[in-house]
Amino acid sequence: MVVILLGPPGVGKGTQGARLVDEVGWVRIATGDLLRAARREGTELGKRAQAYMDEGELVPDDLIVAMVREHLEKLDAGTTVLFDGFPRTVPQAVALDAMLPEVGRKVDGVLLFEAPDEVLVKRISGRRSSPEGRVYNVYFDPPKVEGKCDVTGSELIHREDDRPETVERRLEVYRTQTSPLISYYDAAPTRVMRIRGDGEMEEVWAGVTDALAAELGVEVPGA
Ligand code: AMP
Repeated sequence: MVVILLGPPGVGKGTQGARLVDEVGWVRIATGDLLRAARREGTELGKRAQAYMDEGELVPDDLIVAMVREHLEKLDAGTTVLFDGFPRTVPQAVALDAMLPEVGRKVDGVLLFEAPDEVLVKRISGRRSSPEGRVYNVYFDPPKVEGKCDVTGSELIHREDDRPETVERRLEVYRTQTSPLISYYDAAPTRVMRIRGDGEMEEVWAGVTDALAAELGVEVPGA
């Protein structure tokens, strides 16, 4: 199966996605995490992506699609793939639809998270992430030890593009370039599951597990 997490920055895609990985064993492909790893490693892709990311702009589609293809080809056939932060433009969605049949897959569902901008801005300002992609929030969901990941002990990072100057631009980019994907998937034979992202983490999780059970027949253990 292939499931896409769609929604604006700060809406909780990363948090809910990490939980699906931990509790259901899905494999998450988070393009933002892959790009940050490429930057840390100083690869050619990382260097090309840097300026776009720091400005809150999207990295060009061809770079993203090539990166996703490489990761998709490595996956075992039986795994469920959870895309987080991809696709982010209609051309990326079209490219995904063209490449999935080559690996015997299709998009089964889209979890669409929605929340008002005020909530997103507040969440993003408190967000701290581990290099492995676990997300904390200094106000709502702090780590047990300040500045360290509960699971790996890695140093938590305040992302450069989570600073207030860039957040407005990222929300604008979402509205203009990414939100057209909602009508794209509404028009496709894909289940679009609308999830309220502005509640407590547990409420959002309940929305996710209910939708997955009702729409895709996926039972999450303990939910
Ligand atoms: P994220 O961690 O998903 O918020 O992504 C951080 C940044 O990486 C974005 O603001 C973009 O600059 C870049 N990025 C991540 N995924 C994509 C994508 N699918 N298409 C274009 N740029 C992306």
